[in-house]
Amino acid sequence: MRIVLLGAPGSGKGTQAKQLVDQYGVVQISTGDLLRAAVREGTPLGQAAKAAMDAGQLVSDDIVLGMIRERLGQPDTAKGYILDGFPRNLAQAAALDALLSDIGQSLQAAILLDVPFMDLLRRLTGRQTCRSCGALFNKYTHPSREPGVCDACGGELFSRDDDNEKTVNHRLTVFTEQTAPLIEFYAAQGKLDRIDGTQPIATITAQFRSVLSQRGV
Ligand code: AMP
Repeated sequence: MRIVLLGAPGSGKGTQAKQLVDQYGVVQISTGDLLRAAVREGTPLGQAAKAAMDAGQLVSDDIVLGMIRERLGQPDTAKGYILDGFPRNLAQAAALDALLSDIGQSLQAAILLDVPFMDLLRRLTGRQTCRSCGALFNKYTHPSREPGVCDACGGELFSRDDDNEKTVNHRLTVFTEQTAPLIEFYAAQGKLDRIDGTQPIATITAQFRSVLSQRGV
């Protein structure tokens, strides 16, 4: 499997990627997760990325492409991968095609999770992640049984720094201006599939399976 998950922040890409990882034994490559890890560890790359992330802007293409090149070179990607949050603009998409062609690969599908903007706002400002196991919850739409505590492992839930209302608005604008053009880009390559991201999580996962099997994945 070599696929891209397309969708605005909060559309459910991370949640679906985790389901597909479990079901297909492939890896999820989230540039947002890689960047947040670099910020946490205080690496030079993390320091360079932090200001843009806090402001809800895109980190420079150089940084992100360097990270992707390195990640795709690791052996655990041999069984397949799901790109989550990358590419984010046309330059990254073209660079990805070039990089994959260098290593004799190509993408099989770009799957768009479609969610109306009003829903995204609520999803993002309510989003909570488990500090221990990474499970995702939402205060409004998918609350944990006990507030602030992970259902899966009992770990502490936290909200991402960039999920405050001001930054969220900016991230949604960035999506419309820079990332949404990728929908046409992949449609023109005949690789685009759309899934209604407002459906229940399990329904969406089932539709992913069907879209993937239609493409022979
Ligand atoms: P995400 O977790 O995908 O919502 O990403 C969080 C933040 O990381 C974004 O708002 C950007 O600042 C940065 N980021 C993640 N992926 C990329 C990318 N492919 N290109 C540029 N910046 C990115």
